[in-house]
Amino acid sequence: MTLAKYKEKRNFKVTPEPSGDGSAEKAAHEQRLYVIQKHRATQLHYDFRLEFEGVLLSWAVPKGPSLDPSVKRLAMQVEDHPVDYGGFEGVIPEGEYGGGTVMVWDTGTWTPEAQSADIAAALKKGDLKFVLHGKKLHGSWVLVRTHGYGSSSGKSWLLIKHRDEFASTEDIAATEPKSAVSKRLLADIARDGGGDVEKAATGDPQPKAAKAETRKSMSKKPSTKSPAAKAKTTRRAKQ
Ligand code: MN
Repeated sequence: MTLAKYKEKRNFKVTPEPSGDGSAEKAAHEQRLYVIQKHRATQLHYDFRLEFEGVLLSWAVPKGPSLDPSVKRLAMQVEDHPVDYGGFEGVIPEGEYGGGTVMVWDTGTWTPEAQSADIAAALKKGDLKFVLHGKKLHGSWVLVRTHGYGSSSGKSWLLIKHRDEFASTEDIAATEPKSAVSKRLLADIARDGGGDVEKAATGDPQPKAAKAETRKSMSKKPSTKSPAAKAKTTRRAKQ
């Protein structure tokens, strides 16, 4: 585990991202950090990170996590990141590596499942089973390495939800679009950080859909009738 690749790709005089030289990543963590950062760079993606041996193992998940066990989400392993990075929410200047807006979409801790108790061995094998204790994601998950081709060889994994009480068909990327730490949307983070608000907004729920939602809910006028009157109406309707 090394941060050499992470440092090589970035100019810390320009980007506000952590340099990885701090002491935080060297401190002993009783609990391993888990974080997903929603990143509107060239392409929108979700960076899935698990703390292990003083760094954050990292995968870029283009579509984000799915709570549906029948859905396999591609997860491309990328360079290890400093543990400090897990708290980074803000704007990476355009033209820099990963230029765009970053949101802490979910955060918490993770624990390996019994079959993956030897984490290093599980990673080597390409089958890491773990439990997430996040604000949005919970329960049992697996990362399985697949056969990648060319440059993606060995880097291509699938992120899959296991069947448990937290499995669902809810599209959580759509229903929970805000930051887990600041409740901001990507556009808000871009605005606050002097970034490209329009570009960031393309990663947020689209206003057209939001307007349609509002119209739909507005058309349902709140009833002014008392519960008793309502019951009467229901009875009458049944007759
Ligand atoms: Mn990224």
